[in-house]
Amino acid sequence: MDRTSFEDPAIAMAHKSAVRSIERVVRETAAPTNPEEAKARILEQLRNPKTLVITGAGVSTDSGIPDYRSKNGRLTKGRPMTFQEFAHAPEQVRRYWARAFVGMRFMRAAAPNRTHFALVELERAGLLRGIVTQNVDGLHTEAGNANLIALHGDMEHVVCLDCGAMHERMLIDELLDAANPTYFSSVEVTGSMMNPDGDVELRDEDVERFHMISCPACGGQRLKPNVVYFGENVPRARREEADRWLAESSGVLAIGTSLAVMSGYKFALDALRQGKPVSVINGGPGRADAKATTVWRTRVGGAMDEILDGLGL
Ligand SMILES: [Zn+2]
Repeated sequence: MDRTSFEDPAIAMAHKSAVRSIERVVRETAAPTNPEEAKARILEQLRNPKTLVITGAGVSTDSGIPDYRSKNGRLTKGRPMTFQEFAHAPEQVRRYWARAFVGMRFMRAAAPNRTHFALVELERAGLLRGIVTQNVDGLHTEAGNANLIALHGDMEHVVCLDCGAMHERMLIDELLDAANPTYFSSVEVTGSMMNPDGDVELRDEDVERFHMISCPACGGQRLKPNVVYFGENVPRARREEADRWLAESSGVLAIGTSLAVMSGYKFALDALRQGKPVSVINGGPGRADAKATTVWRTRVGGAMDEILDGLGL
């Protein structure tokens, strides 16, 4: 049973479709490439610039942020919000902000890991067209990648769905803190409860005593991180810029992502249509595996070390 119900049938249907997309199970569809062969091909691909790198939650797991679809991933602990819930389910909005208020304090403590830094090396060596990340954790930027598109936005801004105002996350966080001065120290959270979208699991009784704030511009409460949630689309200008980068690239290398979500999977399909190689480095099965040119099934961090060694970087 889903926790949210909507009176409006059109909204209910959009929400249901978003939940289906969240719950998509990526099954084994193809045998991975022989690991030595996979590594050799990926090195060859990178020596021929400009590769477009697509990243997902699997590049941030070494920073202590769990991914979505692996054994202990996000989806084993309840699903993320849908856009329809932010827009039409006030109780879920309050629940989200209680969890995000706590989660943000953990997210801030997360630091880039060797995969993020390896990508900075590849970029500085002139091998990449750029990075398109599906992550909203900001760690590629913190590591120092210059050519980056955060496809699904970032956690640094909050949009009001009532008046459209865009607020700094810092400001919203200060208001939440003022409305809930002792909250953070009063809830019990463990690191393993953190989610890649920046919230944590909280007990219902903790959610119930959280005070929601209002939009500083209009007084509404439909506040949503400026992140693309399930049930909404990547903004067109951002999508078009990423498509341009793909057109200018020599191929795609997907790292730490199952490409389960269409906005990421589409890059693999489009690259193949353009006659470009698509390689995958990931710890588990992916949606594009059967179509990809090369699939290196391995731990992402170790693979990136081997790639830097192989390229003499
Ligand atoms: Zn507003």
